[in-house]
Amino acid sequence: MNKRQILQLVILIIVILAGIRFYIYIDVLRSGGDAGVKTGIVEGFLPISALMSLKKFLLTGIYDYIHPAGLTLLIFFLIISIIFKKSFCSHICPVGFVSETLSHIGLKQRINKYLFHTLTILKYGLLAFFVYIILINLTVSAIESFLNAPYNIIADAKMLQFFTDPSRTTVIVLAVILLLTLISKNVWCRVLCPYGALFGLVSVFSPFKVKRSEENCTGCRKCTAACPNDIQVHTKSRIDTPECFGCFDCVNARNCDDCLKVTSGMNHKLLPYVIAVLLTLTVAGAMTAGLWKSTVTNQEYRRHLNVIDKLSH
Ligand code: SF4
Ligand code: SF4
Ligand code: SF4
Repeated sequence: MNKRQILQLVILIIVILAGIRFYIYIDVLRSGGDAGVKTGIVEGFLPISALMSLKKFLLTGIYDYIHPAGLTLLIFFLIISIIFKKSFCSHICPVGFVSETLSHIGLKQRINKYLFHTLTILKYGLLAFFVYIILINLTVSAIESFLNAPYNIIADAKMLQFFTDPSRTTVIVLAVILLLTLISKNVWCRVLCPYGALFGLVSVFSPFKVKRSEENCTGCRKCTAACPNDIQVHTKSRIDTPECFGCFDCVNARNCDDCLKVTSGMNHKLLPYVIAVLLTLTVAGAMTAGLWKSTVTNQEYRRHLNVIDKLSH
């Protein structure tokens, strides 16, 4: 396990602990007790709500007060993806970490790579759908109505329910994705995740790109073998694709010092430390500045929780 994966593992553990704390929070609320403060970390799993509040924030200057932590995290993830390539995917995302780990223990027989490249269009299609609906079609007042609706207020509780009380369809879909991940690298991230597609598109502006020297390359393919996304590094002179995670595993696995380089003044090996420090500072800064804690009271949250099964979009 390399340093970026250790960072992802630490974040996965923090997310699991936050999930357990949130589960207890809901349980205490339901039983009428004093549940304390809701953890903001779970709001990081509400990308659609965060995207809507980002549009509202950009157009009105009003920061989201229902799920402020979700908006803060989205802005942070977008900024680090623009600067440090798709570093949210390679250094933070716990789902990506699980997907990558499962890929390592899976079968070595891979699905045809050309078929796979064609299927990546699915996640861009999903992203285009969300961008059209949220960023183009919805007015600020429609977004305002959605954000203040009971469904959005307890969307994090609905998300938890998705995992703690999955429907039969959810179990089947997750089982299929698990199976596909075991027979081909990172199938969820590469084919289906619109969130990763968004970070990939903004990451094309990053100065962190992998560059291959044809002169010094011996064609050993160690770089390609190390890539979690099956990018054919040994055939490119520069990796510009939005599919590149910016994990730099290819550079770390290289055959010689001069065959692969990262086009940035910063040593890419420092990236896990930089991301960890920036994430910590962002969360601490948002807590201090009042951009983390929701204004929804426990009483209001409890009221909506009591009718959670009746709530839909
Ligand atoms: S593609 Fe999606 S699931 Fe995969 S690491 Fe990126 S955001 Fe996470
Ligand atoms: S690791 Fe270096 S030498 Fe080997 S294929 Fe990649 S670029 Fe070429
Ligand atoms: S090309 Fe290199 S930096 Fe990009 S995803 Fe593959 S291994 Fe990571």
